[in-house]
Amino acid sequence: MKARIPTRLLAGFFVLTALPLAVMAQVPMMPLGTTAQACHAFAQRLRSVDEAKCLALELRADAGSQSGFPLVFKDFAPRPANPDAPRILMIGGMHGDELTSVSLSFLWMERLQTERLQPFHWRVIPASNPDGLLAWPSRRMNLGGIDLNRNFPSADWDASALDYWERRTGSDPRRFPGAAALSAPETQWLTAHIAAFQPHAIVSVHAPYGLLDFDGPQKPPRRFGPLHLRQLGIFPGSLGNYAGVDLGLPVITLELPHAGLMPSPSHAQRIWTDMLTWLSENLPKRAYSVWHPPLLRPTGGERPTDPSAHLSAFPPTFLRRSDSPHDQSRVPPPVWSTE
Ligand SMILES: [Zn+2]
Repeated sequence: MKARIPTRLLAGFFVLTALPLAVMAQVPMMPLGTTAQACHAFAQRLRSVDEAKCLALELRADAGSQSGFPLVFKDFAPRPANPDAPRILMIGGMHGDELTSVSLSFLWMERLQTERLQPFHWRVIPASNPDGLLAWPSRRMNLGGIDLNRNFPSADWDASALDYWERRTGSDPRRFPGAAALSAPETQWLTAHIAAFQPHAIVSVHAPYGLLDFDGPQKPPRRFGPLHLRQLGIFPGSLGNYAGVDLGLPVITLELPHAGLMPSPSHAQRIWTDMLTWLSENLPKRAYSVWHPPLLRPTGGERPTDPSAHLSAFPPTFLRRSDSPHDQSRVPPPVWSTE
């Protein structure tokens, strides 16, 4: 293969090398394509994604994947309008070969677009690993061979991630956590969105194990439609570990039953309805204006404007590692991890 490097990439290289490494690590590159091109590519790859409907969503892109493909997202305001509505971040396609997780995210975006009554402010990221999705065949990892769901900056990453990968997975390339936490531009971008959007809950859609997983301080839901709770433990660098354990946010992981076959409309409907019911019952009725991930909240200083709303949101406020139902010493994580 001839090594001809496009001029625009070369120009980008010189710009990036001029930046300090620390800055590079914080700034995923801007997308080289448009959201219209992204819609075209998604529709080509996924039978259940319609290009015209994708365009009508008016997706936004504020960064690019490792290849420069647009990393797209879309916000949906609560109806009726409510500036205090709890915020929910939905993430699809973190593993590029789990096609249904992207398709279902698109399906639910179309639903949110037309829903007349829904109480939350949603941000949906339908395809968080587009390079993996659009590879042929699709693959779990990003372009750099990193499993994004092992690349989040969980507190145990430096001490455990590479050791866990070598010892527990036999250096499985499908579960490579990267050379360092946040070494994938897609993970940097997702983490930046968590920090900027300040969600009160995160919904992460995966496949194909047909179950419901949960990390976070709340009592877990028992089932959403056909998906029954089965907590799988935590892994160094996983989103559930980073956001659920370290930040103390409820992280709902939907594991759809098939990676290539969509759930039936009635199953998709029941998952959606049960999830909204659980979120309505377990999130604060209104958001507090000052958001701190509970475990990172400074002692003293800033307070939520409505402490009682906050307390009802995250009981118990402080989850010590030893209290975690996913404490690794009590629940050994399975090697065949699904997240
Ligand atoms: Zn997955």
